[in-house]
Amino acid sequence: MTKTLCKNCRHLKTAPYQAAHTGCWHPDLMQTTQKDAWLDQQQVPGNHHQINLNGDCAEFKELAKKATFWQRLVAFGT
Ligand code: SF4
Repeated sequence: MTKTLCKNCRHLKTAPYQAAHTGCWHPDLMQTTQKDAWLDQQQVPGNHHQINLNGDCAEFKELAKKATFWQRLVAFGT
């Protein structure tokens, strides 16, 4: 069985461009969540190193594949 890597998971967000804090932003694995959007800065993501220590995280969801050059070119033309 292959190990899951957080860097290939769509729940991992890194600071400063994707999120305020680097970590796992899966709603069930976060340390602190807020319902209201204006409290986003108070949210604390989960420690992805600790959660996926054995490489067998059940919530792993693979990143979407990037479109090839030709697929982007065709999409641009339509
Ligand atoms: S801990 Fe699990 S859900 Fe979170 S980023 Fe890593 S693989 Fe994804």
